[in-house]
Amino acid sequence: MKTLGLLGGMSWESTVSYYQALNRGVQARLGGLHSAKVILHSVDFAEIERLQHQGEWVATGALLAQAAQGLEKAGAEGLMIGTNTMHKVAPQIEAAVGIPLLHIADATGRKLQAEGIDTVALLGTQFTMEQGFYRERLTQHFGIEVRIPDAEARARIHRVIYDELCQGQVKEASRTDFVAIIEALHRDGAQGAILGCTEIALLVGPRHTHVPLFDTTALHAAAAVDWALTP
Ligand code: GLU
Repeated sequence: MKTLGLLGGMSWESTVSYYQALNRGVQARLGGLHSAKVILHSVDFAEIERLQHQGEWVATGALLAQAAQGLEKAGAEGLMIGTNTMHKVAPQIEAAVGIPLLHIADATGRKLQAEGIDTVALLGTQFTMEQGFYRERLTQHFGIEVRIPDAEARARIHRVIYDELCQGQVKEASRTDFVAIIEALHRDGAQGAILGCTEIALLVGPRHTHVPLFDTTALHAAAAVDWALTP
């Protein structure tokens, strides 16, 4: 089994989900007491969040690139960035290390393709929904049309992510709002919805809506387990 290096803490609420999914994934495949080989670098998310909102993306990339180098030195053989948003600086991080980056959008795109989905809704931070780094990868590499909520809904989703979910708060009113946004996009033609922020699955799951959901945390972790167990 290969050793995974995880850049986590963005937020740590979702890093808990990653850690659990990686270990459960390996246990499901190998049985018994098997668990994932993981090296975690967990950042102080307040520093990253401040830089994000100041538009200092190169500085966030430098911070994470340094952390990734530490993971490589410690023995990681493959790298995961445990957040959709910070894949904005994935090229900067990837360039700093000699180990492969297991990209979250590729794990998601492969699953959408396997399910025959070609039009999908995307919920995430405003950075992920509005900028090209995530949507374009899905479109260019997997031929998937990505639809996003209107500007007002995008602002509400962004606020819930940073002010609630990343701080461990799960509120019924926010769940109702997210489900309404997902179902409206579904009525307009999206065949499913990408939970394109690693905390959203803490709020919304298959039991809350009939719309097929694609949880990027679970898909990313499953792809990493596959990779780690492939000789
Ligand atoms: N975890 C979230 C994501 O997947 C948001 C936190 C961040 O900005 O990194 O995008």
